[in-house]
Amino acid sequence: MSLIVQKYGGTSVADCEKITAAARKAIRAQKEGHQVLMVVSAMGKNTDMLVGLAKEITERPSAREMDMLLSTGEQVSVSLMAMAIHALGYKAVSLTGAQIGIKTDSTHTKARIHSIETSRVQRLLDEGNIVIAAGFQGIDENFEITTLGRGGSDTTAVALAAVLNADACEINTDVDGVYTTDPRVLPDARKLSRISYDEMLELASLGAGVMHSRSIEFAKKFGVPIHVRSSFTDVPGTMIVDQVESKSRPVSGAAITKNEARVTVEGVPDIPGISHQLFASIASRAIAVDMVVQNVGNDGKANVSFTVPEEELQQTLEAVKEVHEGIHDSNISHDNQVSKVSVVGLGMADQPGVADKMFRVLSEADINIQMITTSEIKISVLVAREDAQRALQIVHNGFQLDVAPDDAPQSAEAVKRERELDAAEVVAQLRFMEDLTIDDISLDNSQALVTIRQIPDTPGIAAKVFEAIAETGILVDMIVQNVGRDGSANISFTIPRESVADAQKVTETIGKDLGAEEVTTKADAAKLSVSGIGLRSHTSVGIRMFEALSKAGINVDLINTSEVMVNVIVDNSKADDALACLKEAFADVLMDSK
Ligand code: ADP
Ligand code: ASP
Ligand code: MG
Repeated sequence: MSLIVQKYGGTSVADCEKITAAARKAIRAQKEGHQVLMVVSAMGKNTDMLVGLAKEITERPSAREMDMLLSTGEQVSVSLMAMAIHALGYKAVSLTGAQIGIKTDSTHTKARIHSIETSRVQRLLDEGNIVIAAGFQGIDENFEITTLGRGGSDTTAVALAAVLNADACEINTDVDGVYTTDPRVLPDARKLSRISYDEMLELASLGAGVMHSRSIEFAKKFGVPIHVRSSFTDVPGTMIVDQVESKSRPVSGAAITKNEARVTVEGVPDIPGISHQLFASIASRAIAVDMVVQNVGNDGKANVSFTVPEEELQQTLEAVKEVHEGIHDSNISHDNQVSKVSVVGLGMADQPGVADKMFRVLSEADINIQMITTSEIKISVLVAREDAQRALQIVHNGFQLDVAPDDAPQSAEAVKRERELDAAEVVAQLRFMEDLTIDDISLDNSQALVTIRQIPDTPGIAAKVFEAIAETGILVDMIVQNVGRDGSANISFTIPRESVADAQKVTETIGKDLGAEEVTTKADAAKLSVSGIGLRSHTSVGIRMFEALSKAGINVDLINTSEVMVNVIVDNSKADDALACLKEAFADVLMDSK
């Protein structure tokens, strides 16, 4: 018999009428011949209300007690859901995370799933019950209640679908699918018929709140197709699967993270290890750093910039000051009025011109780009918060995301789970279900690195640089723009080594036009790539890399990160050593690729 997991978010169970409507939907699926496992969130804004109560009592509630408190929200909704199903004349049993046996680590308020028992749920399903699981919660080895982090019911649903080998995993929510960007922020947003795991992972971690990003890690790791759809209608929504919607489009979606803060540390001694200490100090406070950008200055000192969520700025600044006696207040600048706007698409990996187009449309709208980072499948820019909404609109429509591609499926097509990816087999290779997995560590030693330093900062500089490069037909790979001295900009990018002479010529000309202080080229660069699942949500990945490389005395010239890949540029003479030490550093999580 086929099994369907149906998750209902907070808005979808906000009152008793909605709970009964969801109960009816589950019963209908059962009548159609499926076993049905519901995963339910707390009613409406109940979790926010509970957080508010805690804050009224104390600014710093203990994380254990927060989990005790927040887990009650889901206990209310699952029991009411069971009662609603009983009242309609059907069999149902509600279960908390602990009752199911969702075992997690002990990181209260952001616990990760270690393992899930399936026997009790399976038995109850086999007895004809609709089983209703409380989302977002689990239990650690000491029987302490844990929660998975805000929005974590999606992760409960997909994880249960994975271990039970469910045929479908429906995410029923208050929008009727995944849109090209948040439809409440941009009315022009278009519903996607389909989106790939990698794109959804990036979008979710870049601010698209429709899915908890860790749920997509599960989906990808265990091959679970997800159907995001409306709780209130029957129209097909969006399938999250391992295929893109359109092969002709380089960009599939855009996202905004409104409340970011930028921190720049100038004059960091450019010796292996300092960056590592910097990020280790921040990570020790469990702050996730994004948009890490590092340029080496002409004085041999590095400028390191990165962004953090605005509410974590103060703690971050404290962490930075602790790192090195050479880092004083005068070295540190910050801006807490910035937002990050990103575009994501698997297609950009093999369709050039995406970055320069993004920079061009922003420049035409006179929007200043403060920082840039790219990865294979995303480009992020940091802009002043007052420009952010306009930047999102311009970029979204600039890539015609509001218009459906000709080669897209008409609507979401149901996809059955591919059973070749057997959950048990995947789990057997892992210590714990939500562990970091690394599939590959590779080396490309045919790169060159170009840096333009101290460009007076005005809107349009990135557009001019990358259009000039694009005109010569040179393919640019990584791009970073950092904040230089006195608010000027430093831009670095990598190209194939054979293009280095041409690139230098073009860059020198454009550098002069823009009033840059100098252009430098490093013809002997190598790129090391670590790819896998959970690279960003496991904040330790960057630290492990920096630590391993710094121990081996290897300096990192450039770094970029995404959910599925971290790339670093190092000197080519150190490439083999770097590869060996990264393989050693990740040996325990490197998946058997047989
Ligand atoms: P639930 O309570 O059902 O989990 P959420 O509020 O977590 O619902 O997620 C749904 C919301 O996500 C939508 O109301 C929408 O505003 C927001 N959202 C953000 N980005 C997107 C996107 N790209 N597509 C659809 N919805 C999005
Ligand atoms: N109720 C939790 C929250 O509001 C979990 C969830 O809804 O996914 O964050
Ligand atoms: Mg949600």
